[in-house]
Amino acid sequence: MTTQNTKLNFRAKAQIELKSICVMKNNSNGTKEWSIESANFISGCRNDCKYCFSKATAIYNKSKTQDDWKEEFVKSSKLNKSWRLREGGRIMFPSSHDITPQHLPEAIQFLKNILSPGNQVLIVSKPHLECIKAICDEFVNYKDKILFRFTIGSSDNATLKFWEPGAPSFDERIASLKYAFETGYETSISCEPMLDNKIGNVVAAVKPYVTHSVWLGKMNEMKHRLTMNTQLTQELKDKANQLYGWQLDDKIRALYERYKDDPLIRWKGEIKTIVGLPIGEIGSDE
Ligand code: SF4
Repeated sequence: MTTQNTKLNFRAKAQIELKSICVMKNNSNGTKEWSIESANFISGCRNDCKYCFSKATAIYNKSKTQDDWKEEFVKSSKLNKSWRLREGGRIMFPSSHDITPQHLPEAIQFLKNILSPGNQVLIVSKPHLECIKAICDEFVNYKDKILFRFTIGSSDNATLKFWEPGAPSFDERIASLKYAFETGYETSISCEPMLDNKIGNVVAAVKPYVTHSVWLGKMNEMKHRLTMNTQLTQELKDKANQLYGWQLDDKIRALYERYKDDPLIRWKGEIKTIVGLPIGEIGSDE
């Protein structure tokens, strides 16, 4: 099934099982659009997002289970790796876990290792205010090397809690964004995946504190990831079907029309494909 399957009656589709949910052919997890390389030192993530690409991959590889993905395990060899200067774009940190209070000292050490040779870093997080304050205060002298990207897929806390049960609330993410902005860092937002049909609420809330970009994206490989990562309850099937309906091609085209002239808004690859935009080069962040 492809994303062009827009003629199906969605109300009818919602009555049937999750097998009806679209599986996208584009399996990019977004890191290549934003960065030339990814940096991680933890296996597992307490946020336990239902749609997580890294969790699905770890379960597929039998290195994690649905239940123990939440347990964060520091990989010492990665943590202590020394970095050289990478030319041509930013290094994304992290991409397969998050920066959590539990491992904040290690995260700061890891960032120092990457930044010391002069690398540009894209810090991606569903941010804990405590962590963002500590990073902003620690790396004042590296401000020109750091771009923050905070993930916010909905302004509704119940929605965030359902899809990202261990992650901070909307208010904490906004407070983190505000802190980074007010302390003079470059800031951006990832609304990928968009988790409801009211992403305009997120865009309006973040705009005063964003210096760089707001990225909009769909939930990729929905069926595969939800099947790998979770127990498929009826509630999950209903919410997934609802989200699928909100992200059909005609809805995405309408969203594009709404924001296409907004210089802050950028479109993830799967949306570019739908609306006919060229895919950006690796690490171009465009
Ligand atoms: S924050 Fe990222 S790595 Fe962690 S569970 Fe969510 S999607 Fe996966």
